Parts: sequence; C-alpha cells; structure tokens
Amino acid sequence: MAQNDIVDTTAAYSSPNASPLTLTSTPDTALVAAAKALTSARYVVAMTGAGLSAESGIPTFRGDDGLWAKFGEPRMDGYKRFLDDPHGWWRREVTQTQDPYVLELRRALEQAQPNPAHHALAGMERSGVVKTVISQNVDGLEERAGLTRLIEVHGNRSKYRCIGCGRRTPRDTFVPPAELPPPCSECGSIVKYDSVMFGEPVPPERMAAARAEIDRADCVLAIGTSVTVRPVSGLLWIAEAQGATVIEVNPNETRLSGVCDVVVRAKAADALPGLVSLLSAGT
Ligand code: NAD
Ligand code: ZN
Repeated sequence: MAQNDIVDTTAAYSSPNASPLTLTSTPDTALVAAAKALTSARYVVAMTGAGLSAESGIPTFRGDDGLWAKFGEPRMDGYKRFLDDPHGWWRREVTQTQDPYVLELRRALEQAQPNPAHHALAGMERSGVVKTVISQNVDGLEERAGLTRLIEVHGNRSKYRCIGCGRRTPRDTFVPPAELPPPCSECGSIVKYDSVMFGEPVPPERMAAARAEIDRADCVLAIGTSVTVRPVSGLLWIAEAQGATVIEVNPNETRLSGVCDVVVRAKAADALPGLVSLLSAGT
C-alpha cells in the first residue's frame, strides 16, 4: 500500500514524546485554557473531522450515533472495487443503489448547512487566530462558512475529479454522458467524486500542502476527529512530536487525548462559539 493510501486503522499509535496532560476539569476552564493557548501561539493550524459537522445533521462514521454503529463497519477496499468495475459503481450511483450507509450520508450531505462551529472557525480565520484548516470532511461546509485557507485532504463531495489527470469539476457544471463511467473531457480517463474512497491514495499535493502547514504550526486545534484515518491523522502526531501545543475539541476520548495539552470535552458547536467569545474578550 502506498504511503498516502487512505486507511482506517485500529492499531494503537504511540507518541514518541508525550507531553504532560494538562486536562482541565470542566469545559469552561478548558475553554479558557484553550483560548490562552491559541492567543499565545504564533501559527495555529486546525484539523477538522466529521464531528465538526455533526450539528449540521451529518452523521459521523464512528461514535455512538455514527453510521457504523447503525450499519456496521463497511469494507475498506472501496477504491479497488471502483477501479475493478467503474461502470457498475456508476450504475449503482445513478440508480441510487449504493450501500445503505452511503445513501444515508448522501441524504444528509444534500441538506446540510454550516453550523455555529463552522461559522466560529471562519471567524477565527478572519481574526487571524487560525492560519489554516486541514479538513478531513467532504461536505464543503467549511468553504460555505467562508473559510479560505482550507485544505480539503479527502476532497469535496460537490466536485468530480478525474483519476487520470486530477482535473476537478463542480458537479453543477458537469453533465454525465449517457454512457457510464463518465470520461474526462481533458484526458479521456474516468471521472469519480472528488471525495477520497477507502483505499484510495490521497492526492499527494494535498498531503504535501497539509504537511507544510503542520511543519509551520506551533499549535494545532483538533476538532471532531477520531484520529483514526491515515495518513492525515498522522499529521497530528507529527505536530505533537515537533513540540506543537495540541488542543482537542471532542465530546469523546480519542487516542490523541492522552498527549493533548488541553482537552475540551464538548460538542464543537458549543465549544467553538464559546472560544470565539473568549478570544474577542481578550482572554
Ligand atoms: P469519525 O467519524 O471517525 O469520528 C468522529 C469524531 O467526532 C469522533 O471522535 C466523535 O467523538 C466526534 N464527535 C461526534 N460528535 C461531535 C460533535 N458534536 N462535536 C465534536 N466532535 C464530535 O470522523 P473523522 O475522524 O473525521 O474520520 C472519518 C472519515 O470520515 C474522514 O475521512 C471523513 O472524510 C469522513 N466523513 C466525513 C463526513 C463529513 O464530511 N461531514 C461525515 C462522515 C465521515
Ligand atoms: Zn483527466
């Protein structure tokens, strides 16, 4: 498997230089600690996951309310199966006969609007507190909330991408031909959704851009991610190993929690607007 292939791992990570845990006892004191860490940092990079969009009605994969608790964990070879039979994949797409968890996720994605957490994050970018957001989400809600310095490592569901030349096309300007799978107008290869499938390599330029941001960061803000999907989750461990202050916003424990400097055990849509209030009050 190539280094950038997207995989889900249950193998435990270990951090080479775990920093002392300064977990604060209540969300309020944790928020104050997080605000202080953000304001004293030189270059803050946020890393977001499906939990950021939970309050927009988009289910996460993992967690008690996640799709896998409801439908079971899917096969992790989605990209291989797409390449083995792209015509069949596209036929299931147009006849809406994909796996049930995919259909449920699609329905939620079509209706979702940015929630207070997306808007708060956009506010943090505007005020210069957050320099870049590395997103694992494919829902496009960060862009719709106004974030501009955004690296969507797993792509964006509102776009198509050619697997040959990498050309991305907005879905609303792309007309799939009668014959499937749709060919790329540029190089004739096959078009798929821009979102990265299980087992599909993350486009290397996106990983490189994300890594460059992590290398600049002296503080990372991990929001709503289970820190399980590689290679992107590895970036948080790199940041921690490079000495960055690590802040986590997540109602549940993750494998990163033990090495975080600050853990805010709250929903993103509660925590991030609270953080913005503290930041604007000059905490
Ligand atoms: P995940 O599903 O593995 O984990 C979700 C995490 O969010 C969990 O740790 C959970 O405790 C936390 N969470 C749940 N509700 C939350 C809330 N209200 N506020 C903050 N955190 C909350 O998600 P992941 O780590 O992003 O990895 C899964 C992969 O699934 C990603 O690659 C992503 O592309 C894809 N995905 C994307 C979407 C989306 O675009 N909205 C939705 C589902 C899955
Ligand atoms: Zn092409």
